[in-house]
Amino acid sequence: MDNTCLFCRIVAGEIPATVVHRTETTLAFRDIDPKAPTHVLVIPVEHYADVAVLAEANPSAAADLLAAAAAVAEAEGLTGDGFRVIFNTGRNGGQEVFHVHAHVVGGAPLGPMLAGK
Ligand code: AMP
Ligand code: ZN
Repeated sequence: MDNTCLFCRIVAGEIPATVVHRTETTLAFRDIDPKAPTHVLVIPVEHYADVAVLAEANPSAAADLLAAAAAVAEAEGLTGDGFRVIFNTGRNGGQEVFHVHAHVVGGAPLGPMLAGK
């Protein structure tokens, strides 16, 4: 665990979160500032900075993360109308929290993939 990492502190229970799904290797909780009617963050419980680091260091945890994202979409009732899974990565990707997380968003049409495109 990285004591300076917000999401590690959520895993440790030091910072509250609305948890919607949990496995041995993943945790899913509602985004504090939702950008869609449903907006859940899915993280590995172990700290990896971003999706590239995770995929390189622990492919099994990466697979678990995708499976958990799909399970969250199912549990949130998003699979019928569809949803989006987003990994913001690095500066150009707009990543703000450097503990890899999948944004699972849906519940309404999400518009263009990128702003204005
Ligand atoms: P990103 O820009 O991809 O790094 O996304 C970070 C996300 O974390 C943003 O959507 C924030 O709204 C969300 N966030 C920040 N702090 C918290 C928190 N304490 N609990 C839940 N979500 C948070
Ligand atoms: Zn962390």
